[in-house]
Amino acid sequence: MKTKISILLAVLGLALSPSIRAAEEDHKDHDHKEGEHKEHADKGKKEAGPNGGRIVTATEPHFEFLVMPDGKVKITFLGEDGKAIAVKDQSVTAIGGDRAKPTKLAFAKDGGSLLSDKPLPEGKMIPIVLMVKMTADAKTVTEKFNVNLADCPTCKYKEYACTCAHGADEEGHEGHDH
Ligand SMILES: [Zn+2]
Repeated sequence: MKTKISILLAVLGLALSPSIRAAEEDHKDHDHKEGEHKEHADKGKKEAGPNGGRIVTATEPHFEFLVMPDGKVKITFLGEDGKAIAVKDQSVTAIGGDRAKPTKLAFAKDGGSLLSDKPLPEGKMIPIVLMVKMTADAKTVTEKFNVNLADCPTCKYKEYACTCAHGADEEGHEGHDH
């Protein structure tokens, strides 16, 4: 019986690890090419959104990307002070999950925020592409990242919204040669 369980665990581990590793590679590559260095230069420390989500600074105003307990995504635009401001003409669409079987999310106004029509695909590491238009005629701003729903071991946020610079994910950049 014991042997059976450990074989099962080993098989599960093997089945899971390549996809996680692939997602991590993706993440590193992406950060390395665009974004991360600029962000580090802008401000020394990352801040979480007012609801504990990830702050996306690709648009002006910035917005908070938050995964709700039911898996739906809430987008809240933020004022200069980092506090929520009501959504106006902004529109957002998103594609999440595997490239082979992506889930398209549409967003509708919900209070002062935008809420997705359906939850993100299942998983703890979900690649997402956000397409944001500040007004109907504005150019689409695309933001890609991995939604890592694991709890950060160091700060109180989930990894996708993590505000601390822990682990190789952040510090590996300096000595990281591609
Ligand atoms: Zn953290």
